[in-house]
Amino acid sequence: MKKVVIIGAGISGLATAFEIREKARAAGLEVEIQILEAQPRCGGKMHTEVVDGYVCEWGPNGYLDSKVHATEFCKEVGLEDELVPASNVVNRRYLFSRGKLWVLPDSPPRFFLSGLLSIRGRLRIMLEPLRKRAAPDADESVTEFATRRLGREALEMLLDPFVAGVFAGNPDKLSLASSFPRIHEMEQTYGSLVRALFALRKKRRVEKKKAVEEGKTVAGATAPRGHLTSLRLGMGQLVDALAEHFRGSIIPGCEVTRLKLTTESTENAEGNKNYSLLYRSGEKHHAGRRGESEMSADAVVLAVPAYQAAKLLTSLTPHASSLKPLEEIEYNSLWVVALGFDEKSMPRPLDGYGFLIPRREKRKILGCLWSSSIFPGRAPDGKALLTIMAGGARNPEIGALSEEEILPLVREELRLTMGITAEPEFMQAEHHSKAIPQYTIGHAGRLTAIDEAIGKVPGLFLTGNAYRGVAFADCILQAGIIADKVLEYLF
Ligand SMILES: Cc1cc2nc3c(=O)[nH]c(=O)nc-3n(C[C@H](O)[C@H](O)[C@H](O)COP(=O)(O)OP(=O)(O)OC[C@H]3O[C@@H](n4cnc5c(N)ncnc54)[C@H](O)[C@@H]3O)c2cc1C
Repeated sequence: MKKVVIIGAGISGLATAFEIREKARAAGLEVEIQILEAQPRCGGKMHTEVVDGYVCEWGPNGYLDSKVHATEFCKEVGLEDELVPASNVVNRRYLFSRGKLWVLPDSPPRFFLSGLLSIRGRLRIMLEPLRKRAAPDADESVTEFATRRLGREALEMLLDPFVAGVFAGNPDKLSLASSFPRIHEMEQTYGSLVRALFALRKKRRVEKKKAVEEGKTVAGATAPRGHLTSLRLGMGQLVDALAEHFRGSIIPGCEVTRLKLTTESTENAEGNKNYSLLYRSGEKHHAGRRGESEMSADAVVLAVPAYQAAKLLTSLTPHASSLKPLEEIEYNSLWVVALGFDEKSMPRPLDGYGFLIPRREKRKILGCLWSSSIFPGRAPDGKALLTIMAGGARNPEIGALSEEEILPLVREELRLTMGITAEPEFMQAEHHSKAIPQYTIGHAGRLTAIDEAIGKVPGLFLTGNAYRGVAFADCILQAGIIADKVLEYLF
């Protein structure tokens, strides 16, 4: 039987395994799947922990239901009845500026009446439709794009906190086309973001009217960008369900250390397979180098971060230069801190998604999610759960602090931004030393070079959030694409 080994049981690896198995079954093909994961638990960045009744999301807290394929995937895994939409308060988002929290205006008229930006800043945005569109192949930074189209103030007040919220990144370094391809497309298609927003709103109204006339409900049709969705027990519920599907086929605590391409003449331990993988784990398979075991495979899917992929490919690629683009994909470090309070001790209603902070405010946190207001059941009755992000490209020195240092810092920042002086009843933090890959200028070129190098190695596939989208839904989309490629290669 053909054997596929998937290295990495983050959501990309698990979802790819699931897609390969489902597609193979549907086509009547037999394939053995083995998943090797370095950590003792599956999920990678997607990690939910329930402590004292608080549901802490150390990674993704949800996805937008406009990404219909992500919802379909959860349903296929058997979690249809576990999907939960976020409360409607998530449509109210705040920004911390000049010592207070401002509601982010949700329509153009409200935006122009809001004092969030100066009159000059608002007028500058009104000129946006008059700006020339960039060349289709331009690889501008988010900063260059935003200042060109919307002005410096819009960059600092709107785009910069948005970039912090998605990538914990630096807008001066991130490529607009690679990091926010939809915004790039809007400019390319409509020539202006304002024109694009009006055209897309009109299109959605027509679609919604048609759907209502036909008695259908269309996912995401009611909200412009879809509705935030999660699972009843948190996003980790999907990891647990996938791990259960592959019980017996996952080896946790198993770090792959080397990947070798075997030639047809070198018969290895399990017959004439393409690949031989060396790994370290508690369990021994076939004797390899000292302290290592060996496994063979017909095809290998590398679902690990880019810097790990570069290490594993060293022995496969004769030219170190072909690994450079993988090594160049930067990551930043980030603290995620969960604090639980008595709801009555909150100085203000938690009537929204939470808030982000523009860099120019010089605060030490990036923002705060009002987690217990977003999804039901995230905190015990009468309690509030706040999730704070700190560090990232903006404050690398904060990303490097210890847990003893980060907790008091976060409490002080909550006092300064939200006026919270009460003692938290619950405090826990998770550190991501390499949290989110940064799609910096040149990312598209790097992908081309990586694809070319990988394409030369038969039966080797690369996936994960380092390449074509950092969101959970992007990982799911790639899983289906990679599964098709793996099966096409094997059969
Ligand atoms: C704090 C935070 C908040 C986020 N919030 C959101 C959100 O709200 N919405 C959203 O859509 N996305 C969000 N994301 C992004 C999303 O969580 C990630 O993109 C996604 O989980 C990445 O999954 P992955 O499988 O590609 O990578 P990873 O989760 O990094 O998985 C890679 C796996 O490979 C394993 N591995 C590495 N090396 C080896 C080896 N040599 N041998 C074996 N195994 C190995 C690792 O242990 C790990 O388990 C967030 C990310 C972070 C960090």
